[in-house]
Amino acid sequence: MTTQPYTRQDTSRLSNGWISYRVGQFSLAAQWEVEAGQLLTLFGPSGAGKTTLLRAIAGLVRPQEGSIRIGDRMVFDSDSGLFVPPHRRRVGFLTQGHHLFPHLTVAGNIAYGLARATPAGRQRRVAELVEMFQLNGLEQRRPDEISGGQQQRAALARALAPSPELMLLDEPFSSLDIELRRTLRGELREKLRAAAIPAILVTHDIEEAISMADQVQIIEGGQVGAAGNPLQLLGQPGQGRVARLVGVENLIPMVVTSVQPQDGTMVCARQDGGSPRLEVPLSDVAQGDQVTVGIRASDIILSDSEPRGSSARNRLPGVVSDVRLRPPGYQVTLDCGGLDLSCHITGTSLNEMGIRSGDSLWAVFKASSCFLVRD
Ligand code: ADP
Ligand code: MG
Repeated sequence: MTTQPYTRQDTSRLSNGWISYRVGQFSLAAQWEVEAGQLLTLFGPSGAGKTTLLRAIAGLVRPQEGSIRIGDRMVFDSDSGLFVPPHRRRVGFLTQGHHLFPHLTVAGNIAYGLARATPAGRQRRVAELVEMFQLNGLEQRRPDEISGGQQQRAALARALAPSPELMLLDEPFSSLDIELRRTLRGELREKLRAAAIPAILVTHDIEEAISMADQVQIIEGGQVGAAGNPLQLLGQPGQGRVARLVGVENLIPMVVTSVQPQDGTMVCARQDGGSPRLEVPLSDVAQGDQVTVGIRASDIILSDSEPRGSSARNRLPGVVSDVRLRPPGYQVTLDCGGLDLSCHITGTSLNEMGIRSGDSLWAVFKASSCFLVRD
């Protein structure tokens, strides 16, 4: 195997810093810290400054103020005037377009960053990466003679070949289809962890952020907003702004009608006090308080009869008012008596159940799938 075990000395491979950068009308203020083998995801709308931040870390632009450490080396410090140029920062940078050199073979591309190795050392490292990224047999092909997935694998291999101290990934898989994206990101995550390389990933894809990241930062308008655990922050975002940004499908204005500390739950009703009622996790609010309850569409199960003997606390009858394609599946809207619930199901479930507008169904979900959202 090519990947090094995580050793004690690798723990010095921490990358961190902060910058303040103004360009044209745009200003960016950010700070970050990623440990060896960990992955930080930057999540935010288009134009938020995500690419600009990666470019600053790579040394492609020079912030007015800040300090940047990559591994055990300072590469930028505005106070002392230190600015290490990009080619000496030991950073791997991968973007959506693979940017392989069209005139070089796969092997030639992977060897590109290994100019300082001996010919034998270079050959060995190329062979390792070819093996690691399953490019066997394609070594002598040029980029236009391999598939899109193979091109992106070759680009990853090229970026990892010189053993960078930090990997920067700017929406690297967004041009690939969903299956390939899942496979590649799993492989990449495993390789970065095994080689103890810290990484910063920009993505628009919530599934990608949750499955790959150890921590997430939300960037909006050049500012870092919320930061934290991916599942908590993106899966059950407690802030209204973040919930809207990550597209929580159900955000329901409700009122707390009773609290049940013994169960760790409370009951909420529509704001006019009417049904349906929802059981949600206990929070530091009081009876009578107005709240917004968030539920992910993918956390709701649809059933064609009233589920009995189920531990799920929420079971709402409703009528299907809309069915539409929402890859990778379908979005079914269920009118539960004045409360429209958006539910996400697979195409297989949709076909098996033969769901159509006008059908009577039950929406089933756990209390713990509900979360309170604050503005
Ligand atoms: P993101 O990657 O989050 O979509 P970018 O980092 O590409 O966003 O861009 C953030 C903002 O910075 C945009 O408004 C963009 O127009 C602006 N920007 C980036 N580079 C320059 C530049 N060289 N001159 C002027 N504005 C720039
Ligand atoms: Mg960008």
